[in-house]
Amino acid sequence: MQSKLAHAAERKAFGVVLDRIIKSATGQDREENIDHLIDMAGKLLKDTSPGATRGLRNGLYPGSKWERFLFDVIDETDPNVLKTSILNGGYEGAFRGLRNTTANAEKYQCNVPWIILFDPTSACNKHCVGCWAADYGNQLNLTYDECDRLVTEASDLGTHLFMLTGGEPLVRKNDVLKLAEKHNDCLFNVFTNASLVDDAFCEEVRRLGNIVFSVSLESYEPSVNDARRGDGSFDEVMRAFDLMREHGLLYGTSTAYTRANTQAVSSDEFFDMLIDKGCRWAWYFHYMPVGDGANADLMPTAEQREYMFHRIRDIRAVEGGKPIFAMDFQNDGEYVGGCIAGGRVYCHVNARGDVEPCVFIHYSNVNFKEHSWLECLQQPLFQSYRRHWLFNKNLLMPCPMLENPGELPRMVSESGASTSEYVAPESAEDLAERVTPYAKAWEPVAERLWHEMYPTGEKIYADEMSQVDVDRKAKIIAEEDSKVEAVVD
Ligand code: SF4
Repeated sequence: MQSKLAHAAERKAFGVVLDRIIKSATGQDREENIDHLIDMAGKLLKDTSPGATRGLRNGLYPGSKWERFLFDVIDETDPNVLKTSILNGGYEGAFRGLRNTTANAEKYQCNVPWIILFDPTSACNKHCVGCWAADYGNQLNLTYDECDRLVTEASDLGTHLFMLTGGEPLVRKNDVLKLAEKHNDCLFNVFTNASLVDDAFCEEVRRLGNIVFSVSLESYEPSVNDARRGDGSFDEVMRAFDLMREHGLLYGTSTAYTRANTQAVSSDEFFDMLIDKGCRWAWYFHYMPVGDGANADLMPTAEQREYMFHRIRDIRAVEGGKPIFAMDFQNDGEYVGGCIAGGRVYCHVNARGDVEPCVFIHYSNVNFKEHSWLECLQQPLFQSYRRHWLFNKNLLMPCPMLENPGELPRMVSESGASTSEYVAPESAEDLAERVTPYAKAWEPVAERLWHEMYPTGEKIYADEMSQVDVDRKAKIIAEEDSKVEAVVD
């Protein structure tokens, strides 16, 4: 592992280049400094994600849509928020953090994620139709000290990106601010209904610089949004966007797509409204019918999922599309090597402390309140994920629950994990049975789409290191980090 001194020097070097980008007098100066920053990132990513910098350069040529987008972000974001978010999320999380988590995965023989989702509370101030949070009220919480211990132990292993879910995390907004202030080398992305965002809170976030927001929104039409989320919810979100923009914060949306709303939440009207309100990203989550009695009829049809596959890629395209970073987590698995759960890239800690492979997979062997973070990562269910990944070579079918429903019961059974579902516990077999008709309907579509892109049926990476397993990567990283103490500016 890198020494503390080398780490500080490396972070400082990234900070100097970021300052130059922010203060660049001309577009050309800015382009040269951005190019320099990508070079520096490339050195850190060459063993873990070698294609990433090529992807950045492909999208950021002079005059391109993404260059204009980036320049707008630079000009319209508070300088402290911009610099701190990129240093913590980019340098500490994605570049240096990915090296450190990869090295630690080999050292401790377990997955070490570079992103952790956790629920500070199950409480929520809203009562959305179909959401479980209202049933649980404020019964379940991670105390501030538990959140602090989680972030401390996880960042010691290299993780610097934390996503706060719930419940409504901003029910605990003073604790969120306190946590972000203490862990000023981490980035916190808060998934929120935005109703508790106010001027004083935005000012604190601007001062700290290491909190960004993904706001729940389900329609560009107030009446449709409010039918599920409650009267006035749409206006609250619009007001929060305006406040965040006034304070120069970074924010986007988080939307679940279902059989009932797929077209509406990916329409031109929806995207144009988000762009107009200053949103930088639009993240989409496929509806998952998890929990006993969940409504499988709300799952998108195979046609709707194919529509989202094309639609989100078109919106994100380098040529055309729209200036907002759209991602559909279920259809974009090919960019992250398939399923990211079980600690390979991420995992989830619920408000009771159960450490789950994924926010949608409610089984676990351990509770964080009783174990160290490393022990949680070494739990049998995560080791099963580690052994059985990749669940499908077709990365349009990445999930051990949704598209490969036989895999989850096998892992739950071999690991002896128990249900960690709060509201409606169910066996992995029952869950698998519910999603099997969906998996069968999607498979032929996924196979057709996949073979159109990759005729051999296997994704071919341009870089040899992309194919290399984590053990070998970790050895290369350990060797190189002991030689190179800092990226020299
Ligand atoms: S378990 Fe399924 S939903 Fe969760 S990260 Fe893996 S593929 Fe995605």
